[in-house]
Amino acid sequence: MQQPRDIARELSRRGYRLTPQRTMILSIIEDSDTHINAEEIYAQVVARYPRVNISTVYRTLELLKQLGMIYEIDLGGGRVGYHPEDKGHHHHLICRKCGAVIDINESALFSVKAILLQAFNFNADLKHLAIYGLCEKCNKE
Ligand SMILES: [Zn+2]
Ligand SMILES: [Zn+2]
Repeated sequence: MQQPRDIARELSRRGYRLTPQRTMILSIIEDSDTHINAEEIYAQVVARYPRVNISTVYRTLELLKQLGMIYEIDLGGGRVGYHPEDKGHHHHLICRKCGAVIDINESALFSVKAILLQAFNFNADLKHLAIYGLCEKCNKE
């Protein structure tokens, strides 16, 4: 986990201030074990800062995403979740029929990364992907 002062330094280096709300949003994401979504984050923030608007949460998520501190993942069906950067090294297999999400290790796509590098000289960021298809059960139906 990144220390708040490291994050503060990184933000200020890029011309942003580490406000209490930004700190709190980042630590909520750090503490979450799942793909926490914006509404869940907002519910926790508003419990402590009742005047915070949900658009502040969305803007902060956008900023943290641009700074590479968090990953956003579209899990289908309007489910968008967030991870801190250091927990984002895995991929998700998402069933487009039943919505099941299967987590796989980052290393599962190392060979794809190698192929892209070899064939296209393209160094792909394959750290946190959502791959859609059919799960074992739905594929049999
Ligand atoms: Zn994930
Ligand atoms: Zn399925």
